[in-house]
Amino acid sequence: MELSRKNSAITGSVTLATDAKAKKMKAQGLDVVGFGAGEPDFNTPAHIIEAAKEALDKGLTRYTPASGIPELKEAICFKLKQDNGLEYKPSQIIISNGAKHSLCNAFEALLNPGDEVIIPSPYWLSYPELVKIAGGVPVFLETKEENDFKISVDALKKAITPNTKALVINSPNNPNGCVYERDELEAIARLAVENEFFIISDEVYEVLVYDGIEHVSIASFGPEIKDLTVVINGMSKAYAMTGWRIGYAAAREDVVQMMSNIQSHTTSNPNSIAQYASLAALRGPKDDIKAMIDEFSRRRIFMVDRINSIPGLSCRLPKGAFYVMMNIEKIKGRSYKGRLIDGSLSFSDALLDAKMVAVVPGVAFGADNYVRLSYATSMDNIEKGLNRIEEFVNELD
Ligand code: PMP
Ligand code: GLU
Repeated sequence: MELSRKNSAITGSVTLATDAKAKKMKAQGLDVVGFGAGEPDFNTPAHIIEAAKEALDKGLTRYTPASGIPELKEAICFKLKQDNGLEYKPSQIIISNGAKHSLCNAFEALLNPGDEVIIPSPYWLSYPELVKIAGGVPVFLETKEENDFKISVDALKKAITPNTKALVINSPNNPNGCVYERDELEAIARLAVENEFFIISDEVYEVLVYDGIEHVSIASFGPEIKDLTVVINGMSKAYAMTGWRIGYAAAREDVVQMMSNIQSHTTSNPNSIAQYASLAALRGPKDDIKAMIDEFSRRRIFMVDRINSIPGLSCRLPKGAFYVMMNIEKIKGRSYKGRLIDGSLSFSDALLDAKMVAVVPGVAFGADNYVRLSYATSMDNIEKGLNRIEEFVNELD
């Protein structure tokens, strides 16, 4: 019997699969260096864990309102005001099972069949799949490494059609590490308002910016663009809470209401205990975050210098998030012990088999000349992994 035609085109998450493979090999006692993981290697701060234990002890283990507890919505409003200059009411907030779920709800609420969503490429691999799940059409807008992987307003203008419904802006960016500046976002916002399309502003890496760069939310330029923006954020990256699964969205009330209706039928509320833990995270001290950012930045600089010291490989210094896009174009066409390296997939496979180093092939992000390395792993691992990558490259024919 035929399964869903719409969903037969959906591919599984390569990032999650790479991470799972590396974790499994490690569990088998193999000495794998995993650069695949898109999650902080730090533990969830102790006061957040305490709050979860307290919630359990208090019996806060029942259904909550489907779109999340009012206290957490209030805390999110406070955060959006303090950190991003955005004024939202609790009725404009929905809390979901991770930012990925928030994105899924947003696309479901916005898209009709055939609606186009412009996605700058290289892109985080879930965007096109989520757009397709919601019946929309992903439209890729290529960016270049020499432009720091940022879209230009001219290129964006050319990509807009009468069917354009939304544009995804992910700053700081996964996988390419770019961070959009205020004036760049202002120009994009003007286009969105003129042409009336939504912005899905995925800000999950907002705290992970380096070298004094400021994260700006595109929704902050005035009521018109705010009305057209769905701000997506979550607890995973900023608070080392990937497994807790709490994300949230802020948007126009009608959009949030539709997202809430969808969520009320698909998942009901996100985990009650994780919501109380998230409340403690947002209200609590931020010292752990500061230490985490400093450590990420140190690793980033080391990783970038080390990659650029290996002949045939190169990368730019990312300004945000915790990924490096390593350019392997010069390696293409060479072979490793008879295995032709003809793209990012064969590079990643051969590297894992030969040297037990896991990276994510760029083809999954629409960029086959690259592989993605995460520096959310210890400095020792980074050193060891890059030594092995250098050996691998030296052994190429
Ligand atoms: N957006 C981006 C760009 C991401 O990298 C991730 C990480 N998985 C997410 C959203 C989703 O994060 P989560 O579902 O863990 O909140
Ligand atoms: N966002 C992370 C990554 O890109 C986690 C995995 C995922 O959800 O895709 O690796």
